[in-house]
Amino acid sequence: MLEVKGLRKVYKNKKGKAVVALDGVDISFEEKGMVFLLGKSGSGKSTLLNLCGGLDAPTEGEIIVKGRSSKSFSQGDFDSYRNTFVGFIFQEYNILNEFSVEDNIALALELRGKNRNKEAVEAILERVDLVGYGKRKPNTLSGGQKQRVAIARALVKEPEIIMADEPTGALDSNTGKQVFDTLKKLSKEKLVIVVSHDREFAQIYGDRIVELKDGKIISDVSKTNVALENDENVSDDGELLTIKTGKDLTENDFLKIKEFLKKAAGKTVFAGSAAALADIKQRGMNEDGNRDIFVNTVKNDQKRQYRPEESRFIRSKLPLRHASRIGLSSLRIKPFRLVLTIILCITAFTMFGMASTLTFYNSERTFKKSIEDNGTGVIALEKVYTGHSIYYAFGEETSRYTYVESDLFTPKDVDRLEELFDGKAFASVSTNLRISTEAASTVYYNTNVIMAGLLPKKSGVIEIISGRAPEAQGEIMISSYLAMSLFKTNVLNENGEALGLDKEEDIVGKKILVEAEPYTVSGIFKTPDIPQKFDALKDGSGLRDYTLQGEFYSILENDLYQTAFFSKEDLLKITANTHSGVRDNSYYRRCHAVGQYDINADYYVTDRTYANISDVTEKVIYFNERATVGDNEIVISARYFMENVYEFTNRYTEQNVEDGEIFVVQEALDAELFYNDEKTGTYTVEECIEKLLRSGMDMTVDFTLAEGDQTYGETIKMNIAGIYIDEYFNEAVYVNEKTFDELCNKHKSFLSFYVEYNTSYVPDGNGLYKRVSVIGATTKEQIDYLWDNYQFESQDAQEGISFVEVKGGITGDFSTIDQIVEIFSKVFFYMGLVSAIFATMLFSNFIAISVQHKRREIGILRAVGARSVDVFKIFFSESFFISAICVVCAMLLTMGACWIINGYVAKLLSAYVFVFGPLSAVTLVGIAVLTAVVATFLPVYKAARKKPVESITSL
Ligand code: ADP
Ligand code: MG
Repeated sequence: MLEVKGLRKVYKNKKGKAVVALDGVDISFEEKGMVFLLGKSGSGKSTLLNLCGGLDAPTEGEIIVKGRSSKSFSQGDFDSYRNTFVGFIFQEYNILNEFSVEDNIALALELRGKNRNKEAVEAILERVDLVGYGKRKPNTLSGGQKQRVAIARALVKEPEIIMADEPTGALDSNTGKQVFDTLKKLSKEKLVIVVSHDREFAQIYGDRIVELKDGKIISDVSKTNVALENDENVSDDGELLTIKTGKDLTENDFLKIKEFLKKAAGKTVFAGSAAALADIKQRGMNEDGNRDIFVNTVKNDQKRQYRPEESRFIRSKLPLRHASRIGLSSLRIKPFRLVLTIILCITAFTMFGMASTLTFYNSERTFKKSIEDNGTGVIALEKVYTGHSIYYAFGEETSRYTYVESDLFTPKDVDRLEELFDGKAFASVSTNLRISTEAASTVYYNTNVIMAGLLPKKSGVIEIISGRAPEAQGEIMISSYLAMSLFKTNVLNENGEALGLDKEEDIVGKKILVEAEPYTVSGIFKTPDIPQKFDALKDGSGLRDYTLQGEFYSILENDLYQTAFFSKEDLLKITANTHSGVRDNSYYRRCHAVGQYDINADYYVTDRTYANISDVTEKVIYFNERATVGDNEIVISARYFMENVYEFTNRYTEQNVEDGEIFVVQEALDAELFYNDEKTGTYTVEECIEKLLRSGMDMTVDFTLAEGDQTYGETIKMNIAGIYIDEYFNEAVYVNEKTFDELCNKHKSFLSFYVEYNTSYVPDGNGLYKRVSVIGATTKEQIDYLWDNYQFESQDAQEGISFVEVKGGITGDFSTIDQIVEIFSKVFFYMGLVSAIFATMLFSNFIAISVQHKRREIGILRAVGARSVDVFKIFFSESFFISAICVVCAMLLTMGACWIINGYVAKLLSAYVFVFGPLSAVTLVGIAVLTAVVATFLPVYKAARKKPVESITSL
């Protein structure tokens, strides 16, 4: 059945010294019988038992179970061996206190993979005299009862071996006897190995006594039945008189009895029943009248061969409900830490929830829905093109980017868009035109025109409620909102007189000043009434409410409230004034260079920029009746020119300029009358220049790239072709394109920073309008068009192509949200990551404490036959429970947060932007599982890897 060979066990004690607990033990056990391991404390009894039971692994030697050697056992096999063949009974009972008597017993059954069987449990309870105790909790039982529960638990598995380590050590002798009686009964069919130091009990109950000393077997004796004198009815061995039952006694027999009674020193007892006989058994006599004596155990060399199925192990299977019961019971032990762990986990999970919600946010769906629900809100389209910019540092290319530059829509483009949007689109300019009024604009009554447009060709798109559309130059049609604002602020006529109007019809035909230009109001078109909730802005009481104001501005901006319609000629003029950069389509190539330029090196050294002349053409005063800047000519700022005129004149025109005239120039400078054409005895800039020019001054300069005293490249002689007037920006010099290119090429290698803008895009030259405004898109085709173009922009576009930029109105809010989503999904992710690390650490610590508290339970389960996996099951059920709570809370929090954010977003976009969907939920659950696994694995791994005996002895 069970055999050990050359078993050695060496422990290291706390000081690190080796303690030999077993020193080469060979022993084999038969299929049944009661074997006592006897010896003094410390002799190695428990060690031998534990090794035999697979609770511990030997240092040397092997255990052979039904022909299978432990040499090939894994830790799991030891567990399974125990689970299959061995029932353990300990001195300290080791039953699970949270489980009822019934559950304790059933657990052993279930670990063997058997179903919980009520009848089996009941039968076992009867065998150990505990009928009716099934529902009781262990702490309500006496020591003897607890030990009987432990025996019952050992029995229910129907093991072939029962091992008991001082099972009666904690019991009084009477109860102890009962326990031994029970074990003795069992030994009729099983092998029962009992560790004890009570020689008397061993001799009464034992079939075999193995004595140990210092880790070695010093004696091994088996009980043998010695027959007394046979064939006699009455036998007398000098001490004992035996009378065979059921025999007719002869005279001689009675004589023997008489003789015995005569010489007997003490009392003589006749026992008539087995029970009575049991009491005197310890005297060495058996029921059959024979006597048991112990003789050296004879080794049985005829080994039984086992069939493989007889020695097959059953792997333990701890049912989940037991695992979770044990696991969850430790939640109570550290409530504060538990709450802290849960809070931190919830925080981490919520962050991840937000991050995943934001990640799964559907940009396209939100965009399309916002546009669809946008109604009369206006979306602006602008034509742009791409180019690539090359950055140089001292002639070396450093980087290269694609840039986007404005172009103009041609009338054909506008036609196409008008068609696509069913006439609900019109050419327009985003601008800011002030209409002259007596009182200033207020927040609520805003009189500025922020969008100037051409009325759509299709009638009815714009509802005219008074007058007619603008037809000729100098006519304007305003919105009913603008009309109302103009009445409140008292609009002025072209002579600056207040008109004092209050009816829409009355303003039609009146002349008003738009950016100081007179316009006749040809008509009024309808814009919706301002919603009542903004009334607080009317009287000023709501001016502190910036959220309300923000909302109000966005309504004004996104709708046609501040729109006015003009004639085509006027619109082109407004376009030109507003977007000077794009008034000319030849403006598609531009260079920009920065370096220190020294003009006539003696006098002026500063940071200089030179740029293409087309940037300033409007404001240049050319000398000598010229209209353009020629090759090798330069245009410098008026301020620069005037500041240096002394020097110019001194040097070149000393004889030609009268003192008085120069004095006048100085006076003009001092009085800062550059832009003043009032003649108050001084002269305008133009007049000064005229005088200077008339004096025949030399208009050439030496143009040298310089930095401090250091000059770079050759000095170029250039002509001053004119001056430009710019109040703020006056350090640039302008040249024409050809000269510009030449200068750039010459100086490239000296310039610390130089950018070249290049594009292969050639505009068709018929561009007129900066914008096309779309009043709401409704069809799929229209919405798709907007989305495709919007999308296109965010992609890295190719160089040299033109596309439509979608901006303004709702799309502005949308792109803001898009960007916020992008940033916040990252922020939440990283915050989540950091808090998840802390949460996992705290979580892990909590589980570690729980493991510490569960040492006893782990030990017991391992002794009964549970594997490491079962130990994991216990703690995973605990951590998954905690995790589950956190996930549910985190989901609710995330949904709540989404709901709140959506509320805010809804003020901007109509779409329900953040949806905590199934995908986010799955992500969150995944993260929770990961956290639980990581947090549980480390602390439990150590405990689960422990040998069962370590778990048990640390109880
Ligand atoms: P017994 O059960 O006969 O009292 P044990 O088998 O428990 O004896 O112990 C045998 C010897 O091994 C003793 O000297 C004991 O101190 C030592 N021993 C037992 N277990 C350990 C252990 N885990 N670590 C160190 N020494 C041990
Ligand atoms: Mg012991």
